[in-house]
Amino acid sequence: MKPRYDVIIVGAGPAGTTCARYAAARGASVLVLEKDRDVGMPVRCGEAVSNRSLESIVPIDPRWIAATIKRFRLISPSGHIVEPDLGGYGYVLERRIFDYDLARLAVEAGAEVHTKCYVDDLLRATPASHAEGKAIPATDPAPGTTADNAQDGAWKGVSYQWKGERRTVEGRIIVAADGVESRVGKWAGIDTTTHMRDMETCAQMTISNVDLEDDACEFYFGNDTAPMGYLWVFPKGHGMANVGVGISGMASKKTAAIRYLRRFIDQRFPDAAVLTTVAGGVPCATTVGTLVQRNVVLVGDAAHQVNPLSGGGITSGMIGGKLAGEAIAMAIEKNDLSLLNNYPKQWRKEIGAKHDTYYRMKAAVYKFPDATLDDIAINVLKLREDKRTIWGVFRTALRHQPALVWEMVKTFGLK
Ligand SMILES: Cc1cc2nc3c(=O)[nH]c(=O)nc-3n(C[C@H](O)[C@H](O)[C@H](O)COP(=O)(O)OP(=O)(O)OC[C@H]3O[C@@H](n4cnc5c(N)ncnc54)[C@H](O)[C@@H]3O)c2cc1C
Repeated sequence: MKPRYDVIIVGAGPAGTTCARYAAARGASVLVLEKDRDVGMPVRCGEAVSNRSLESIVPIDPRWIAATIKRFRLISPSGHIVEPDLGGYGYVLERRIFDYDLARLAVEAGAEVHTKCYVDDLLRATPASHAEGKAIPATDPAPGTTADNAQDGAWKGVSYQWKGERRTVEGRIIVAADGVESRVGKWAGIDTTTHMRDMETCAQMTISNVDLEDDACEFYFGNDTAPMGYLWVFPKGHGMANVGVGISGMASKKTAAIRYLRRFIDQRFPDAAVLTTVAGGVPCATTVGTLVQRNVVLVGDAAHQVNPLSGGGITSGMIGGKLAGEAIAMAIEKNDLSLLNNYPKQWRKEIGAKHDTYYRMKAAVYKFPDATLDDIAINVLKLREDKRTIWGVFRTALRHQPALVWEMVKTFGLK
């Protein structure tokens, strides 16, 4: 490890390694520090992604794919099954292989990745030690940046623990890619708090000995199954599946997510063997208000770049990582840190504004009582089969929430 890099990225998840790959490929010197001994382990994820969004960021390696999903089944509280045509397909990944490979691709692009390095603080720079980059202007901040972008008070690196030793390393830009439990953003003074109602509490088991169609994902809704959330069954091939539940933090105060999950598995897959049980949180909120502050940049779950409606954060975090990586490389190349402000602008344009709308839709959908969800399913099933698209489902849902109409027309161009 060198004493100094252009960029230090904290966390080797998909967002961090994608940011590293894009920044390094354009000439920045990049260091990724990961606290765990294995990149991508333990896997706390249902591993489902859409083919289109993944393909837009990385060439897909077939080794990453456990199952290709052609059918998506939405199951209402009373058991009505709607199978909308999503106009695309999905993958259930093998994240153990996927996350490793994203790190490998970052290294091939020129980044250094070090594991077992637990970052425990930021190093404050004196004004002089940070003088080589231009100050980020204090006025007219881009959306997602603060006006408080003074030159002094920027950070000059991080301290980290490695095999019981405390070490430091310097970097001109620090990237917080440290996931849902991110602390780097907070250390830099950024408000990354997630309200309890928006923090999905998840529990998931990877099970074997199940008889499933390998090309169909199932999503169960209802107050008894997954209050303010949903339960998923994602096949992984060879009689295996990721079965998990995500419920709002408000709901989990009454009954823990794991209890809904156990009950479902006992009933639906009584002969299954449980190979892994994991729990974790997903910030199903809008993107944090400040993506860039001084020389600190937030990506992925640390920036709340998860799709708030679906809870999927793999590809959206990678897109955040890519946009941040490109802005970082440009800022380093031009020796102008104000160019970091392109990242929040691009994020908002490509995804952030849509996530705001998904967030409002989530808030409305989660208030639907079970009877409304059943009613929507029954009415969708009355549609001609070719009209049973995801928009057909939404249009039917709209009748129950007229306030959503305008939002959806704006976002999706529905007529
Ligand atoms: C149960 C569950 C199921 C999910 N299912 C899906 C799904 O099916 N599809 C989907 O798209 N998304 C899913 N998600 C969300 C998805 O897993 C995350 O959005 C995604 O992993 C975010 O990537 P990231 O790189 O931002 O963070 P992470 O993948 O969490 O990576 C952050 C990394 O930072 C490291 N780190 C943290 N702190 C430090 C530190 N101080 N020093 C050094 N390293 C540190 C961590 O060890 C970790 O490796 C699920 C989440 C959960 C909990």
